[in-house]
Amino acid sequence: MLNRNINRRRFIKSVLLTSGVVAVATRLGVTNAHALEGTSVVIVGAGIAGLGAANLLGKQGASVTVVEAKPHIGGRLLTDWSMGAPFEVGAGWIHGPSSDNPTKQLAEAVGAKYAVTDDENAVYFDVEGYEYDEDEVERIIDAWEGVLDHIDNTYEVNDPRSLLQAIKDYRPAYLNDPGIMWAFSAFTEFSKGGAIEKLSAPLFNWDDAFEGADVVVTSGYDEILKPLADGLDIKLSQTVLSIDYSAKEGVVVTTDKGTFTGDYCICSVPLGVLKANKIKFSPELPKDYRNAIEALGFGSVTKLALKFDEPFWDIETQYFGITTEPKGRWNYWLNYRTFSDENILLGLSVGDYALKADRMSDEEMVEDALDVLWNVWEDEVGEPIQIQATHWATDPETLGAYSFPQPGNSKSDFDDLGDPIDGRLILAGEHTIFDYAGTTHGAYMTGLRAAEFIIDEES
Ligand SMILES: Cc1cc2nc3c(=O)[nH]c(=O)nc-3n(C[C@H](O)[C@H](O)[C@H](O)COP(=O)(O)OP(=O)(O)OC[C@H]3O[C@@H](n4cnc5c(N)ncnc54)[C@H](O)[C@@H]3O)c2cc1C
Repeated sequence: MLNRNINRRRFIKSVLLTSGVVAVATRLGVTNAHALEGTSVVIVGAGIAGLGAANLLGKQGASVTVVEAKPHIGGRLLTDWSMGAPFEVGAGWIHGPSSDNPTKQLAEAVGAKYAVTDDENAVYFDVEGYEYDEDEVERIIDAWEGVLDHIDNTYEVNDPRSLLQAIKDYRPAYLNDPGIMWAFSAFTEFSKGGAIEKLSAPLFNWDDAFEGADVVVTSGYDEILKPLADGLDIKLSQTVLSIDYSAKEGVVVTTDKGTFTGDYCICSVPLGVLKANKIKFSPELPKDYRNAIEALGFGSVTKLALKFDEPFWDIETQYFGITTEPKGRWNYWLNYRTFSDENILLGLSVGDYALKADRMSDEEMVEDALDVLWNVWEDEVGEPIQIQATHWATDPETLGAYSFPQPGNSKSDFDDLGDPIDGRLILAGEHTIFDYAGTTHGAYMTGLRAAEFIIDEES
């Protein structure tokens, strides 16, 4: 996801938050291999949150079992190499890869290789497929930034308006300006994972970010998980059906293949899985948790990688932005030639269009995306020789991409989800941390936070 960081509040907030991250890092360095001897923990989900928790608890001597529905670890952090260059099925960028970013720390530990992506190295096209000139690009970006600034400067945090409503109230003409609407879609809907109709105007841009220009991991993003998973007892291909935390002495986790018991359970399944009530909790989750799960937004982002024999595009340009109807339809493309030898264009559908794209067959998706490319490059567009497509909204173990604040949500709707329930069930995952929701580092931090709770309880 793209991170166009223009929020002026962010600098101050990130200085404040760095201290929290440092605290976690300190704990990671100081391990007591016996501290949790005799303590058992069942962790549901082998994404970065679950693996992060399992790794920290295991290092402290806990007996940890990780239960994962898919036949592989990683969840929304998964790299596919079948095209010769990394196709990141879920997370693609390390956002803000400064040295205090926990994901960057994991990447450094495996000697990852990166390529900086440059938002400015982009060419934008109008709805007819003609390139916008510099003045027009400036006008579009200024208009987009102007709305964000206006909201930033005038909205109370509890204002109930959506981003769409905010645009309508401030500059209604923008709604009929395809270029400006493209910017809201390609930048904001992509970054936040939800349609502007559904994003909370005051909250969508209030989250936090680490410093530094975003990078892609050219050695493969999911490599960073290997040291976390090393030595863990991970039960793959087992779907958790119920979590019973009614007994004071522990938790019973039942899967389609068996039962696991522990003193604690960390449940790191995605928000989509919780929304769909795919796991039966006994007793049911407290009302405020259920309300927050229902209220938070969970949209999708669809990725389609098309590999060609020859490039028909300028191989030096990193991004191609294409104004499309309807909004969100394959409107942003990443050129792999800027960091690999493969002739791959990675197209993105975002906002509500992503929900539609996810339901297309791969063939329909390719046809739909090629239609957008033809509008710009016409008959220069070749036949793809290989494709990779994602369908996150219909993936039964995820049911969407990442969480976002809807009108009426508060920051605590995210953060309070991470509060332990009855001292033995803890929810973790990217949806349980407002400041870093929708990121790998946010998810990882929630896994560490859940583990910290257990360490503190037992010490
Ligand atoms: C398309 C897309 C693009 C993204 N882009 C970026 C990006 O560029 N940068 C960034 O930092 N972040 C990005 N993200 C977000 C990032 O991938 C997530 O925030 C993060 O990986 C979530 O980790 P998690 O551990 O919370 O959840 P997950 O990785 O989803 O892990 C949860 C695990 O639970 C398992 N599970 C579900 N149900 C059950 C069950 N019943 N029983 C057992 N196991 C179950 C799932 O299979 C999964 O493995 C992107 C995500 C997507 C989908």
